[in-house]
Amino acid sequence: MTVELVTFGCRLNTYESEVMRRHAAAAGLEGVVVVNTCAVTAEAVRQARQTIRRLKRERPQARIVVTGCAAQTEPATFAAMPEVDRVLGNAEKLEGSSWTDLRAALAAAPSFGLEAEEKVVVNDIMAVKETALHLIDGIEGRARAFVQVQNGCNHRCTFCIIPYGRGNSRSAPMGAVVAQVRRLVEAGYREVVLTGVDITSYGADLPGAPTLGKLVKQILKHVPELPRLRLSSIDSVEADRDLVDCIAGESRLMPHLHLSLQAGDDLILKRMKRRHLRADAIRFCAEMRRLRPDIVFGADIIAGFPTETEEMFARSLDLVDECGLTQLHVFPFSPRPGTPAARMPQVPRPVVKERARRLREKGDAAFRRHLDAEVGQRRSILVESDGAGRTEHFTPVKIGRPMEPGAIATLAVTGHDGERLLAA
Ligand code: SF4
Repeated sequence: MTVELVTFGCRLNTYESEVMRRHAAAAGLEGVVVVNTCAVTAEAVRQARQTIRRLKRERPQARIVVTGCAAQTEPATFAAMPEVDRVLGNAEKLEGSSWTDLRAALAAAPSFGLEAEEKVVVNDIMAVKETALHLIDGIEGRARAFVQVQNGCNHRCTFCIIPYGRGNSRSAPMGAVVAQVRRLVEAGYREVVLTGVDITSYGADLPGAPTLGKLVKQILKHVPELPRLRLSSIDSVEADRDLVDCIAGESRLMPHLHLSLQAGDDLILKRMKRRHLRADAIRFCAEMRRLRPDIVFGADIIAGFPTETEEMFARSLDLVDECGLTQLHVFPFSPRPGTPAARMPQVPRPVVKERARRLREKGDAAFRRHLDAEVGQRRSILVESDGAGRTEHFTPVKIGRPMEPGAIATLAVTGHDGERLLAA
């Protein structure tokens, strides 16, 4: 058995799992399962622990390595699990030496039952100052490739544990990003997604402080063969002038933005320590729609943030219409130990869950309206796997005939099944 990756959480984790797969293979590791965890919610951490126990039951001979944000923020939790052989921090997991060291350690201690402290290789993530870009040729089994352009975050939203898992913001040099994108296009990728933790803060730590918009312009200029460039989640209030120009005028930049909005009430946004107000979000969406009429917006919204009243929640519901959101990611508030929001007066759990249900319902209705409006259109679709793909708006499509994964085809939208468009 070679090295297996089990990845939780965000696109950044998916990209990093690919980097770890290469390091582990280069180190000659065998019989190892790497669980790359997420710490965004308590539920994500619980699922990781559950998965580790299941994996060990199913494969008693496997050696289990735990990495990712939950490993970085609570290493002792995983080190205490008898199923676990090694806990690697978010910086350590990307270093080749961590995997050669692991091979040596496993060879030296063949029998299980290392002491907890011996298992942990996790250092202070806040001490990490640079993001070296680990060049990859692709993401196994995927038609679109993710490129990490930035890591960490300098903000301290009161509900968020990510900065404690990923450290402060640091950017990959522009030239390295352009080279990575070119390498992926040469490997046959037709769509690349720029990913990170807070990509709109891209470049602030680099000489000359290039912005995300500048980076997008450089990629589109120096990799003219790339048909589709997509952005992962952005903080709308931090969108720079060059980025707005690209959204308005670059057809190869996909007309789909996923916004980190989090709430629709200004007092809640203040208590979250967000950098925008409700009116800023509405204005941003209206302006982008004026510049690029077919643009669609997705958004992250938290339901049941501490102190949220029914009136405040109603403003999050309204925001779906006011911004014209079509793809909602709804997060029932999850108090993360060590964050300021965990110490605020909590909304009762049943109310949090109920509000999340109502917000999802609102989002589903908006998404169905989007599907209805797409019927009869001709859309450019990236084929992801046999019979499935996504439009430029990131809308999922069921394709009525066999097509090569990775290909781009312009097809007629003949209908939808409430979740996906039907195209032939
Ligand atoms: S911007 Fe806020 S929510 Fe996003 S990663 Fe940073 S601290 Fe977390």
